[in-house]
Amino acid sequence: MKKTGLLLLLLILLSLCLSGCSVSAVTASDAGQPGTPESPSPGDSSEGGTGTNTGCGAAPREIVISAIGDIMMHNTMITAGLQSAQASYDYSPFFRYVRPLLSASDLVIGNLETTLAGKAAGYSGYPRFNSPEVLAANLKEAGIDVLTTANNHSLDKGYTGLAATLDHLDAAGLLHTGTSRCLAEQETTLLADIKGSKFAILAYTYGTNGLNPPKDRTYAVNYIDEAKMIAAVKKAREAGAHSILVSLHFGAEYQNYPNAEQQALAQSLLDNGADIILGSHPHVLQPASFLDDRFVIYSLGNFISDQTGPERKTGIILNLHFLVDPGGEKPRLEAASYIPIWTHRFRQNGRTQFSVLPVESALTSLQTGQAGALSKTDANQLAQAWRHANKILESDSPRIRLYSLPLPLAALDLIEKLE
Ligand SMILES: [Zn+2]
Repeated sequence: MKKTGLLLLLLILLSLCLSGCSVSAVTASDAGQPGTPESPSPGDSSEGGTGTNTGCGAAPREIVISAIGDIMMHNTMITAGLQSAQASYDYSPFFRYVRPLLSASDLVIGNLETTLAGKAAGYSGYPRFNSPEVLAANLKEAGIDVLTTANNHSLDKGYTGLAATLDHLDAAGLLHTGTSRCLAEQETTLLADIKGSKFAILAYTYGTNGLNPPKDRTYAVNYIDEAKMIAAVKKAREAGAHSILVSLHFGAEYQNYPNAEQQALAQSLLDNGADIILGSHPHVLQPASFLDDRFVIYSLGNFISDQTGPERKTGIILNLHFLVDPGGEKPRLEAASYIPIWTHRFRQNGRTQFSVLPVESALTSLQTGQAGALSKTDANQLAQAWRHANKILESDSPRIRLYSLPLPLAALDLIEKLE
């Protein structure tokens, strides 16, 4: 929930270009910088006199909420974080190149598709996920603020694993929604107050892989139930939410387009008071669209995984750009921009490692000979990831845009060091 990164990004882009960066980077930056409302962040500058200000009052406040897809932790990924002392784990290198981007948003929401049930339960990848607890702190440090925990892996380590997961998220200072340790927790709407506007975040899953919560703890997982969800949306509004975001873990795996069921459910929630639908579960991207000021993305794809194939390695950071009128509280969703990302899997010191890369930055690095560990195969996959993400997200609406990020990875690295 910081907001220093973007300004830094632009400053560094400028200095890179002054010191002679590639033609392609310059062209790309001309083509469009941050995808959306050009209005400056409040407090960043007042000397310009441009922007959406009418000249006699304060400019609207801008709020940026980002959403990422499924955070997966396969066995190979668990091992990748093992430290040489063999006693601890660290996953911060996974997120090194996206941290500056996530940190620039006011709020970042992701889907935790694993449990943090503790070492005694045995760390494991597919099919019953349990990851080292330090992942929570690493995700927080990466700039993530809220994790949705309602998904088909919520009960992979039973109710005790589900409860332990929430304890670890609390300890790391992460907000969460979708699973609960008691009825009161389930009945409490998660409200995030951002610059005076309240955003409610709700989360539901289609199921939990045939595992059921104990009969006396049916509150443990939020399952998709249209009537209950509409009631929860209404309750969130009564609790003071100015905007309501609903995370839906739904749809069919590996399908590039939503099915009729997904479309009908999203439509029903939007018709009944929800403002934004954030889909996850298919492990590949699915399209986004606006419905007046309301918005749906059917699947955000994987944020990180060791699934194979370019489509499953491709995801996005979705930025939702809101404006709030001076003196007001109700945020207006003006635009959505997306940054294609791709999970790089590589060998380092005899071990398999992972890193989430912004695709355009990785491609720029390749073009400018700063590719580092990126191989020819990686270059091909990155090009496929780029085409794929843009194909799925392309839209008739000018309010859905690519967030062009022509900085080489080294520039992101520099931001990481500065921060
Ligand atoms: Zn899932």
